[in-house]
Amino acid sequence: MKQEKAVVVFSGGQDSTTCLLWALQQFEEVETVTFHYNQRHQQEIEVARNIADKLGVKNHLLDMALLNQLAPNALTRDDIEIEAKEGELPSTFVPGRNLVFLSFASILAYQIGARHIVTGVCETDFSGYPDCRDEFVKSCNVTVNLAMERPFVIHTPLMWLNKAETWKLADELGALDFVKNETLTCYNGIIADGCGECPACKLRANGYQEYMKMKRERA
Ligand code: ZN
Repeated sequence: MKQEKAVVVFSGGQDSTTCLLWALQQFEEVETVTFHYNQRHQQEIEVARNIADKLGVKNHLLDMALLNQLAPNALTRDDIEIEAKEGELPSTFVPGRNLVFLSFASILAYQIGARHIVTGVCETDFSGYPDCRDEFVKSCNVTVNLAMERPFVIHTPLMWLNKAETWKLADELGALDFVKNETLTCYNGIIADGCGECPACKLRANGYQEYMKMKRERA
C-alpha cells in the first residue's frame, strides 16, 4: 500500500535516478534532495533538477560547500586528478561524505514529514567507501532515529546490486531508456553515455553491456 512519504538522495546519476524511480513505485509522495558541493559539476545540479521536473517531483538543493573546505579532492578541485591506485581509496574520496548526506537528508525528512529516506549507495561497487557499506547505513539509521526521535527508515535498494543488476532494475521499472538518456554519471560532465573514457563511464558501459547480454540470452 502506497501511503508514505520519502526523500531520495539525488544526484541525477544512474544510481540515484534508478532509486528515485523505485521510490515513486513504493511511496505515495516523493521528494528529492541534491547536495551542491562539487564545483566541477555544476551541470550535475541542472541534470538533477531537470530529471526531477520530468518526473514531477520536488527537488531540494542544499548547499554543502563546507565539504570542499574540509576535504579537497578530485571531484571538487580541478588540480587533482581522478585516479584509483591499487588497494587505495580513489582520489574522489571525501571522508564522511555519506555520513553528512544521510544526516542532512534525515533532517530534511523531519522537516517535510517524510519517514523514508532512499539512497543509492552500494557495497558491490568498486569504490569501497566505508560510509557506503550496509553496516554503516544501518548504524546511521539508528543514530538519526535517536537524534530526532523519529522512526525513519533508510532504504538502499542498490546495496547488493552490481551495475548490470542496477540496469536490470531500471528496466523492470520500465525506465531503461530514461535512465540511459537522461542521467549524468561521467566525471567529465557529459550526459547519457558520457565521454566513454573516465572510470565512471567505463563502469556504467560495462554494466549496461553485461545486462544487455543477460537479456539477450534469456530471450
Ligand atoms: Zn566519462
